[in-house]
Amino acid sequence: ERFVRNCLHDLKPYIPGKPIDEVKRELGLDRVIKLASNENPIGASAASKEATRKLLDQSHIYPDGNCFELKQAIVKNLQVSMDQLIIGNGSDEIIKLLAEAFLNQGDEVIAPTPSFSEYWFAATVMNAYVTGVPLKDDFTYDIDAMIQAVTPKTKMIFLCSPNNPTGTYLSKTELETILNNIPSDIVVVMDEAYYEYATADDFATGIDYINSHRVVVLRTFSKAYGLAAYRVGFGIASKELIHYINRVREPFNVNSFAQVAATAAIADQKHVEDSRDIVEEGKKLLYNAFEELGLPYVPTQGNFVFVDTKKDSKDVFTKLLHRGVIVRSGDIFGQPTYIRVTFGTAEENEIFINELKEVLAEL
Ligand code: PMP
Repeated sequence: ERFVRNCLHDLKPYIPGKPIDEVKRELGLDRVIKLASNENPIGASAASKEATRKLLDQSHIYPDGNCFELKQAIVKNLQVSMDQLIIGNGSDEIIKLLAEAFLNQGDEVIAPTPSFSEYWFAATVMNAYVTGVPLKDDFTYDIDAMIQAVTPKTKMIFLCSPNNPTGTYLSKTELETILNNIPSDIVVVMDEAYYEYATADDFATGIDYINSHRVVVLRTFSKAYGLAAYRVGFGIASKELIHYINRVREPFNVNSFAQVAATAAIADQKHVEDSRDIVEEGKKLLYNAFEELGLPYVPTQGNFVFVDTKKDSKDVFTKLLHRGVIVRSGDIFGQPTYIRVTFGTAEENEIFINELKEVLAEL
């Protein structure tokens, strides 16, 4: 293994939720539903599908490396300027670019735990060290502990709100407490992949702080916009930070189909509202079912919910899988009795609840 870089030795590859067709094939099932990757059950907006169809004749032309049209659409929607934006091949790519732009060997990075694993991956590949700060027992942020974890070597702090996998969030007061009590040169990444689903009155968005602090906000088209297959997300930060992140970006990192699909999707805010509605319905249905079953759950601001099955989550996961329901097992997040479930369509939610009841009765 000596020909491999040292930092790769302990790195475990990301294991995504299994695709539906693979589960059908492997388990010989006809009906399989996937509530494992926080995808949008009503799909993409018709306008974005039409936009990509129209582009097929342009397949031989390189994409616009600057994503001009898409940036313009975002500018109109979010009141930021073009030079405060960077578009990525999913927000995953931007997490990697941030690490490449700002982390030297031996630097320290702070991230909540449990949270999205890509923060660990991106930092580790740069030979930086991640200090995981546990969420509190109710899975809300431990603000004091986040601040206390800062050392003179801390270069970057990841915050995820709504947090994956818990659905918990940062309030304005909490975010400001963090920003005002850490050195101002630390880059604070606010991952807001699930922003569109948040409903709390005091929910904080990092956009309000990009000019006063070194805050980078991450948003994506994979969730509320239903464009996960295209791989397109974006970062919002001061012009200065965007300038440096652009230095490590590949020239044509976002393909043309993703660009036109995302541009059309922004114009169709009705579709985003429909996506929100379906999540609110799912919340009601699943919260009720969990209460009936006596299962504690974490109130969520995302399109998914983290629930304590009170059984070994690997067993629950496997039994659900064999019944054609794919969820995320909490053991990968260090919570061995929890599962994370994405809200689906009304029909999918019913299937999940019925199968869960039967699985729990068996265990
Ligand atoms: N951040 C969080 C918190 C996520 O849950 C995800 C999707 N799993 C991403 C970022 C990445 O999203 P994408 O690369 O599809 O934009």
